[in-house]
Amino acid sequence: MSSRYAERLNRLPPYLFADIDRKKREAEKKGIDVIDLGIGDPDLPTPPHIVAALCEAAKDPSNHRYPSYEGMLAFREAVADWYRSRKHVRLDPDSEVLTLIGSKEGIAHSTMAFLNPGDIALVPDPAYPVYRNATIMADSVPVSMPLNADNEFKPDLDAIDSRIARDAKLMFLNYPNNPTAATVDTDFFKAVVDFAHEHDIVVLHDNPYSELTFDGYEAPSFLAVRGAKEVGIEFNSLSKTYNMTGWRIGFAVGNSEILNGVKEVKTNIDSGTFQAVQVAGIAALTGPQDCISDNLAIYRTRRDTLVEGLESAGLCVTRPRATFYLWVPIPDEFSSSIEFSMFLLERAGVVTTPGIGFGEYGEGFIRLSICLDENRLEEACKRINALL
Ligand SMILES: *Cc1c(COP(=O)(O)O)cnc(C)c1O
Repeated sequence: MSSRYAERLNRLPPYLFADIDRKKREAEKKGIDVIDLGIGDPDLPTPPHIVAALCEAAKDPSNHRYPSYEGMLAFREAVADWYRSRKHVRLDPDSEVLTLIGSKEGIAHSTMAFLNPGDIALVPDPAYPVYRNATIMADSVPVSMPLNADNEFKPDLDAIDSRIARDAKLMFLNYPNNPTAATVDTDFFKAVVDFAHEHDIVVLHDNPYSELTFDGYEAPSFLAVRGAKEVGIEFNSLSKTYNMTGWRIGFAVGNSEILNGVKEVKTNIDSGTFQAVQVAGIAALTGPQDCISDNLAIYRTRRDTLVEGLESAGLCVTRPRATFYLWVPIPDEFSSSIEFSMFLLERAGVVTTPGIGFGEYGEGFIRLSICLDENRLEEACKRINALL
């Protein structure tokens, strides 16, 4: 790292996937047909009616100027209606919805709104790296809440040190979970709300996989629990639900004072989401929703293919009821997730993500995604089966 960089950049954990990326490129250069199960990004296209709405809106000069910071009221109304019908949560579009340039943007900026230097944020481990890294970027201290198989990958709130609980300002949560694919029911959220009330902690629940569920499971909104709106907000996104990761549109909903804090930071850093993208977002949220179930049917078949393929290769796999990930324990004969991941890449040409990349408690697992064609998943399983 350059000595010109601020210390906060040096404090960020090393990018553990760099080695994998390099090995992947080396393998490709050698002409190996690499199958990448590391990607958490839908391969399926954005539904055509959403693309059409963007094309129309892009032609309208009134959309060419700076958008408002909080987003178009029409988009926020579409979010509120969608949350009422799909999540059974009532929201005031005026004060309880904030448009984001992708939820990652809002997650990262919220640390600046709530953490003073040295403050504590409780972060799940393993987790989407942004919670921890955005806390570090705010010169604050991430404290891990381990997610273990024994606890069904939920943090044990009773195990949080009482001094840490007293001092913590923020708690990040994410269910359905990336990377473990774990899900929760509302009882868990009730316990979180009680804990947040007791210790005066702001809860930031990240819910981008809320619609990516299978086998009759419905992922609850954190806000569906009584009292949740007093302590927290929920991030959601069009990225995974409507195959729109490249479009950069998401939103946060819930407590208006908390949302205002995030908005205050954003107002001083960005200038809102391109209105034509918001118009397309309205088309997504208010248009026909069968694109979601069509997607789910494809993901379900892929999930079953990968689960069954890995099982017959002798791996121990839990069939996830949400997200597009499998969280798979490494076989006993391997000593680390990196070692197993590298083994699969070098010997089978299959890219996976070592669990350690999501935090120290991710060790012992690898993450595989199903954002790939069914026949590629079959091929990956065939190769892994032959190898193990
Ligand atoms: C994909 C993902 C996001 C990012 O969503 P964007 O809206 O595209 O920024 C946020 N959180 C988790 C856990 C994710 O997996």
